Amino acid sequence: MIQAKGYAAQDAETDLAPWDFERREVGPHDVQIEIQYCGVCHSDLHQIKNDWFPGIFPMVPGHEIVGRIVKVGDHVKKFKVDELAGVGCMVDSCQVCENCKDGLEQYCLEGNVQTYNGRGKDGVPTYGGYSNTIVVREEFVLHISDKLSLAATAPLLCAGITTYSPLRHWKVGKGHKLAVLGLGGLGHMGVKFGVAFGAEVTVLSTSASKAEAAKALGAHHFVVTSDPAQLKAVKGSFDFILDTVSAEHDMNMYLSLLRTNGTHICVGVPPAYSIHPFSLLGGRKSVAGSGIGGIPETQEMLDFCAEHNIVSDIEMIDIKDIQTAYDRMVKGDVRYRFVIDIATL
Ligand SMILES: [Zn+2]
Ligand SMILES: [Zn+2]
Repeated sequence: MIQAKGYAAQDAETDLAPWDFERREVGPHDVQIEIQYCGVCHSDLHQIKNDWFPGIFPMVPGHEIVGRIVKVGDHVKKFKVDELAGVGCMVDSCQVCENCKDGLEQYCLEGNVQTYNGRGKDGVPTYGGYSNTIVVREEFVLHISDKLSLAATAPLLCAGITTYSPLRHWKVGKGHKLAVLGLGGLGHMGVKFGVAFGAEVTVLSTSASKAEAAKALGAHHFVVTSDPAQLKAVKGSFDFILDTVSAEHDMNMYLSLLRTNGTHICVGVPPAYSIHPFSLLGGRKSVAGSGIGGIPETQEMLDFCAEHNIVSDIEMIDIKDIQTAYDRMVKGDVRYRFVIDIATL
């Protein structure tokens, strides 16, 4: 076994703390990565706290992983030692179902294996990127360009692909008016991709203080949703709303901002949605959801980012400051993603 060290939650009530554990040996189809940076996703905190389902403890969170390859199995074809590599939210899937064959492993009919807080096909719990090393089968490892800041690339593996995938699926681009709801880790990537794809991008926010930041990211317009006059001015105007908000919010109000045939795309995870049928019927509107992205599309997104010089805006932290980072993340006090410098482990 490979000796690994990381930060783990021993249960849902305890803060993260250093923890030594074991990873499997590098098998013939495996890649071992020495982790250099790991992004901090809001879902890390939800999972540690058992917000969605009872977790598997001890839990080493982290699914925005980048680093350098230190070992490859005998049958690995696509990767070499010393190359940069990344791992996102999944580390395995059945590989044979309809969705896996279509490159939609995130929707694997058998269920994909999550990078942490899951169990591998061998039944062993998976441990994430708040650690110094990880072993992953080749099919779930991504190539990372050396042209971009490596630390700022980490959040692309979850926040990036989660916003890139729906914008591509609905072919959002030139001639479209796109509203991005929420300006956090996901939202700021949604703005960057929307702009890069040629859409006219508006940030919708409850807080006027984010106007400058939205413009700095490339957004064309900014609307304070608590201001009735500003809201009225954009009624019935958007082709798409990319909704990244994970707190409860008034879906009917936002649906009223869509034009006829508009689509409201949910990528956040609020506790519930409450939608009046007339909000959909009046204007033939759709509410849709999208979860991360498949492996081929994640690679496509990373290549697109390298070509167009797109990374996440990050704040680097020492791993010992992770609890403070969580506290700030809950308050929305981060621009826009914390990334752990794993060298501080
Ligand atoms: Zn995530
Ligand atoms: Zn499958």
